[in-house]
Amino acid sequence: MAEVYPNFVEVVVNAPLYKTLYYKVPDTLMPVLRIGSRVKVPLGHRLVDGYCVGFPDSPAAMELKEIKEVLDRQPLLGEKMLRITREIAQYYQCTWGEAVEAALPFAVKKGLKWQGHSRQTFKALRLIKDKDTVLKTLEEFKKKAPRQASALEVLLKSNNGIPLRELSQQSGCKLGGLKELVRKGFVEIYDQPNVGAGFTPAPSGIFADEKLSPASCGPELTPEQEQALSLIRKLSVGAGVKPAPSVVLLQGVTGSGKTEVYLRAIEEVLAMGRGAIVLVPEISLTPQAVERFSARFDNVAVLHSNLTGAERYRQWQAIREGKARVVIGARSAVFAPVENLGLIVVDEEHEVTYKQDTSPRYHAREVALMRAREEGATVILGSATPSLETYFNALMGRYQRAILSQRIGHRPMPKVEIVDLREEFHKGRRTTLVSRKLELYMKDCLARGEQALLFLNRRGFSPFVSCMRCGYVLRCKRCDIPLTYHKKRHSALCHYCSFEAEPPEGCPECAGAKMNYFGLGTERIEEELAHYFPGYKALRMDSDTMKGRGVHEKALKAFEKGEVQILVGTQMIAKGLDFPNVTLVGVISADTILNMPDFRACERTFQLLAQVAGRTGRGPKGGKVVIQTFSPKQYAIVKAAAHDYEGFADRELEYRRELGYPPFGYMARIVLVGRKAEGVLDKAQKLANMLREKANTQKVEVVGPAPAPIPKIKNQFRWQLSLRSPQKEALQSALGILQGVPKSNRGGMRIIVDVDPYSML
Ligand code: ADP
Ligand code: ZN
Repeated sequence: MAEVYPNFVEVVVNAPLYKTLYYKVPDTLMPVLRIGSRVKVPLGHRLVDGYCVGFPDSPAAMELKEIKEVLDRQPLLGEKMLRITREIAQYYQCTWGEAVEAALPFAVKKGLKWQGHSRQTFKALRLIKDKDTVLKTLEEFKKKAPRQASALEVLLKSNNGIPLRELSQQSGCKLGGLKELVRKGFVEIYDQPNVGAGFTPAPSGIFADEKLSPASCGPELTPEQEQALSLIRKLSVGAGVKPAPSVVLLQGVTGSGKTEVYLRAIEEVLAMGRGAIVLVPEISLTPQAVERFSARFDNVAVLHSNLTGAERYRQWQAIREGKARVVIGARSAVFAPVENLGLIVVDEEHEVTYKQDTSPRYHAREVALMRAREEGATVILGSATPSLETYFNALMGRYQRAILSQRIGHRPMPKVEIVDLREEFHKGRRTTLVSRKLELYMKDCLARGEQALLFLNRRGFSPFVSCMRCGYVLRCKRCDIPLTYHKKRHSALCHYCSFEAEPPEGCPECAGAKMNYFGLGTERIEEELAHYFPGYKALRMDSDTMKGRGVHEKALKAFEKGEVQILVGTQMIAKGLDFPNVTLVGVISADTILNMPDFRACERTFQLLAQVAGRTGRGPKGGKVVIQTFSPKQYAIVKAAAHDYEGFADRELEYRRELGYPPFGYMARIVLVGRKAEGVLDKAQKLANMLREKANTQKVEVVGPAPAPIPKIKNQFRWQLSLRSPQKEALQSALGILQGVPKSNRGGMRIIVDVDPYSML
């Protein structure tokens, strides 16, 4: 009888291990084990989850343990996804296991099953008291009824209701406890429609469903749209694995018909029997946006962060089973298990929210490119203000570019005027809140029964609480930054760690009699508007006022109906709003981002101004924009006012080229975080020395250590190093040196490695 050779498997686990592990496979498990299968394996003295990534011929070591269990009947990941996650791990300097974990929704890993999936509705619970009230009583609940407290906590984290069964599972609170919460008036039980029940099975023939046949609905395309589409079509022919993905940059202002081009491209991809993923920034993932896709296609799955675990699980399953062939979602939807993927759209590709700010710190656009190459899919990058990286790639001919130069219906872009705030000061205007010009325009606009938006990228009443006598500034005890005064709460708040303190009457430093509030925040603007424009109603829209379920929708409704004439807000009002009666937009200060310690400060300023300006001129009445600034000659501001993206981008590229910033160089940021200042610095120095010794210093520059721009957050000291290189490979191999260094130690010190960083703080 032939000798039976044992079977071996190569496994990755979600642990700080850069190597893959080898195990023996018992004969009983061999028939169910596949590449991508999730398995239970012994690691040290524990049993952990891992993923099978290969079947090696000869194991690296002979003394091998056995895998204990195969966890799913079908593997959760295919071979393509495994290769993509490996590439992510290599590029973003995390372990393969970590990258695999990031590609799978938590609910899927937990195997959260929803039993009654054929029902149209199911029982769910939601909060009926506002979040602040619940938060206040939470402590008391924790003492008296800890399970009910944890159910409340779970509900607080979700903006929707949560299915009964799932809430009970997640919180450990039994039915009796949940009923008690209902009786106490904190939550209610209601029937939630079963989203997953709406999935229609994919038609058997490609044209069986009329909605899937190309050019069956939607408006007739403009010549520019037609051109864009035929470019996309040309690139998607000859699908198959290619050395580089086919990428089209679709550049067009809002309202120029980009979404319509996406829809057509998806129709064609579906007609070829392939699927599509549409990535949008979380904030743009509104019911209206989703509706445009589901009105055109029968089988749309939606993945956003507000889904409950069970919903997410159901959507994921529907995608995997091929019931949903079009996926629309935020960043992590780039991992959606669409079989035979033909197209990935990254809408608003310049948005920083595509970059994940915890490990693995991937950028969804880059992952989309990796995935497209793996799947032989086409990528459309859509934006009015493309990132410099994308723009440069298009200039170099690596990406094709299609431009939609006109808004649909040929609506002109709004006229933008810059107000020099220095001049306002000279002319004796006491405050820089509303300049004379903006005041005049506002009065005109309001008198005509039209509406205005006022934008400021800073919430609270004023960003500084300070003593005029000695210059003392009130700072967070745990972070090294000034506290922001919030007037309604009468408190000084840290915007990084939520530390809150009552502002002192007098100065704690020099015993001066009075503390002063300096600078502007949205709360202050709201208050002062009553004085500038009596008789008109203003509404503030920022993360302080828009807490709680339905508040945001209610506010927008009130504005739409004209019950409110002025909308004041932060980024929240910069995007997406589409009200034809808004004929004036005022930017209270264009300088807040411009002055940030970040090489992308100009780019972000330009993008934000372009976006805010786009909120007006959307109707036949046209629109006007006023930008207030202390740097009226700054090119980001000047070019934004002229709606001149190319002008801005070319100037900005020059600056980046001179300094070797992306897209001309590659960067990584290494931040060391820990409780002991000396320990952190010491470690940072050692790492810097090690890198300088081992890296190819002709190609890689090691800068630092230096204190991070925010040197302390939540009592943790932060020092940073940055690596820069004109060559991607050189930078990557320098980073590889760090793989031998543990990412955290027992003293609680952590090392954060951020490749292509977007946040410099
Ligand atoms: P974007 O995505 O660039 O903001 P949209 O695709 O949303 O632009 O188009 C803006 C508006 O114009 C939408 O209401 C859309 O339905 C409409 N639209 C788009 N393309 C056409 C077209 N070819 N003919 C008529 N209307 C169109
Ligand atoms: Zn703080």
